[in-house]
Amino acid sequence: MSEVIVGIDLGTTQSAVAVVDSGFPILLADQEGRTLLPSAVWYGVDGEIEVGHEALRRSGVDEVLTSVKSLMGRRVEESGGRLLGRGVLQTSAGEVTPEEVSAEILRSLKAVAEKRLETSVNKAVITVPAYFHDAQRAATKKAGEVAGLEVVRIVSEPTAAALSYGLDRLDERAKVAVFDLGGGTFDVSILEMREGVFEVSATAGDTQLGGDDFDDALAQDAVGKLGLSWGALEDLEKVRFINEARRLKHVLSDETEGMFRMPFTGEIEVSLEDFEKMMAPFLDRMESSCRRAMLDAGVDPSELDAVVMVGGSSRIPAVKERVRRVFQREPDLSQHPDEAIARGAAIQAGILAGTVREVLLLDVTPLSLGIETMGGLMNVLIARNTTIPCKAGEMFTNAADGQRSMKVRVLQGERELAEDNWELGSFEVPFQPARRGQARVGVEFRIDADGILSVLARDLATNEDLVIEVGSAAVDVNEAKVEQMVSESVEHAFEDMNARVFEEARLKADELLPAVEVALSEAGSVLEEGEIAQIKEARDQVIGAIEKREVAQLKKAVEDLDHATESLAALLVEKATQSLFSNPQD
Ligand code: ADP
Ligand code: MG
Repeated sequence: MSEVIVGIDLGTTQSAVAVVDSGFPILLADQEGRTLLPSAVWYGVDGEIEVGHEALRRSGVDEVLTSVKSLMGRRVEESGGRLLGRGVLQTSAGEVTPEEVSAEILRSLKAVAEKRLETSVNKAVITVPAYFHDAQRAATKKAGEVAGLEVVRIVSEPTAAALSYGLDRLDERAKVAVFDLGGGTFDVSILEMREGVFEVSATAGDTQLGGDDFDDALAQDAVGKLGLSWGALEDLEKVRFINEARRLKHVLSDETEGMFRMPFTGEIEVSLEDFEKMMAPFLDRMESSCRRAMLDAGVDPSELDAVVMVGGSSRIPAVKERVRRVFQREPDLSQHPDEAIARGAAIQAGILAGTVREVLLLDVTPLSLGIETMGGLMNVLIARNTTIPCKAGEMFTNAADGQRSMKVRVLQGERELAEDNWELGSFEVPFQPARRGQARVGVEFRIDADGILSVLARDLATNEDLVIEVGSAAVDVNEAKVEQMVSESVEHAFEDMNARVFEEARLKADELLPAVEVALSEAGSVLEEGEIAQIKEARDQVIGAIEKREVAQLKKAVEDLDHATESLAALLVEKATQSLFSNPQD
């Protein structure tokens, strides 16, 4: 086996490590099943260090270093004006540099990777914002070295996202814009993909624009409305305000209003409209970067084939809306906003390593466990190869008003669509009727040392628990079956990722086909036989592609048919005028 090279997304807010496993990039989970590591580090007085979730738990109570990435490769004076708790590098344990803090995060990711892969990991591909300059890249490399990782390549984040997007489109030619709005940085790149070549035509962005800014704006606004002065607040108070602002910001991605609550201080209602007003100046900056990228690349929005959105902040409705407006199209949301960069880094690592064929680890959870969520998708709670015992949970809500129960289907498998995985059991979780999206049902999966899966569901309104024994998750799954499921998942990975693209093309086809039939019946008299045959051929291609579920073929066939009907319309006009001229006596 060749040496492992991992791909790492060293993010401002969250970081992740990934590898290519059987040809498919996957994120590596920690022992709790978490794939995203908060980029947070806490230093104790006695030299104790905590990283990630553990560190973040102390936020607002003790000083925790976060968003240090925005200080990488910059002199501390240069960073002036940042809020405390972010980038203040004086710690209880003394002074630390941003590289050292980043090194702690990388060390944790290295440990996660080593644990998962059961091998030492000494090489990595690390991503940086496309807009990172040399010193920032060098600082990132240095952080890797401090953590004991040879950084074999630094990759730009949007390029990594494009790799992730393009992996299943290697034989296509396309111009895409990759839009990445994270916690601290914003990047937009225009890329040209052709036969597996990814060429960046232009990149623009802002290393000081991201979700942190929205948090700050919300926090400062709330402080003002509560009759306090931001400047007069203690540092840790500021952090608590910011944490609450972030919570509220996430709420406002799904709801039209929310409450900003500070214990012992007060609460205020914040509407989505208020929030969007605060967002406006940031959205304008974002927009100008987008326009610059297009200008530099010499492309018009209409020449782009897709605008791929990634980054946690791309979940914000106002951000999507602005992207829609600037690029004059529906954004492509096929990539996981939190995972695309790490996956892309892993693909790059796989390319450099000559693509590793990973050994399948058994005597762990052999396959991913999850439940079906809206749209018939598999929502993984415990990833394949998680060492047992383990547990993982997630919160769910109701899809309809007054709903009294929710059906939970427990699934096992590696496929994206629920129906393609195995059902281990299903049950109804009753809860108190609530408005749509108001019920809160926690579902937790636990696998004990014997490999027995139990599922616990809890209605947070009543705190009533429902424990369901699903039975041994491993019992009916032998090694051969696991191999089969995994190879199927690899075989179908592209198809699964393309499910959305297929559905979209099919919807378009549903619109086009009846229109074509009508046009054909009317145009029969004016069209030449050859032309009719051509349109029928395009129509049959579409029908054939739907039957065969051929994504790329369907996409192309629909485009062809669209063209054919365009020329059909033109032909009709042409023929009409021709007959007019050739029959002057009419
Ligand atoms: P980075 O690459 O900078 O680490 P990420 O891409 O992980 O950033 O995105 C993190 C940012 O996304 C944070 O500012 C976080 O608050 C924001 N975010 C995550 N989920 C949501 C959501 N549902 N609504 C709004 N913002 C979100
Ligand atoms: Mg990022």
